[in-house]
Amino acid sequence: MIGIFGGTFDPVHYGHLRSALEVKELFGLSEVRLVLNAQPPHREQPAANPLMRLQMLELAIKNQPGLFIDTRELNRQGVSYMVDTLKSLRQEFKNESLLLFIGSDAFNQLKTWHQWPHLFDFAHLVVMTRPGFAIQNLDDFFKAKLATELTELTHASAGKLYFQQVTQLDISATAIRNMIAEQQNPGFLLPDTVIAYIRQHQLYQRP
Ligand code: ATP
Repeated sequence: MIGIFGGTFDPVHYGHLRSALEVKELFGLSEVRLVLNAQPPHREQPAANPLMRLQMLELAIKNQPGLFIDTRELNRQGVSYMVDTLKSLRQEFKNESLLLFIGSDAFNQLKTWHQWPHLFDFAHLVVMTRPGFAIQNLDDFFKAKLATELTELTHASAGKLYFQQVTQLDISATAIRNMIAEQQNPGFLLPDTVIAYIRQHQLYQRP
């Protein structure tokens, strides 16, 4: 089973990193691929450019076996859609179970994603519970896909919905960007190497 963890990582922080490591161990994954969302369709464009977000991600996961960066969205032109990413991963990993991990905040917005029902054609969806974002009621589409046992995810390579609690770290990239703009110290919310990079490149300063 392979884990896929998409994000803008603007910047990457311990909420992402701790969750990625935890699900890797909980689900016994051979790898978790951190997919850098180069050009997000649903939000304001990131403050840092894709190359800088990639370099911060590289610094953050250095020496973390099992966590890898997936740059396929950087290599594609135009807006980055997760459904295209999953399609391409499915071609690469024909018989593996693919687990797409998203936070509960992202799950509540899922129906705004491009071709969202087709995500389930290529992967299972695992929702990681996140502080401050309760899950809305599941409709019949989601209820039909709901798996309550982990083993259900190994019996098929895609198509299930599963909820997984992860350690609650109330950290967001938005809050970190705001702290930096306010000249506050974001220490212990993200790796020191990433903080040093942000300082060196003077990212997230007030315009
Ligand atoms: P922003 O504040 O800029 O929107 P973010 O902190 O939510 O950023 P993203 O890169 O947008 O980070 O998130 C990537 C994925 O990681 C999403 O699925 C999101 O739900 C999840 N995620 C982000 N922060 C946490 C956290 N603290 N705990 C668990 N999951 C998280």
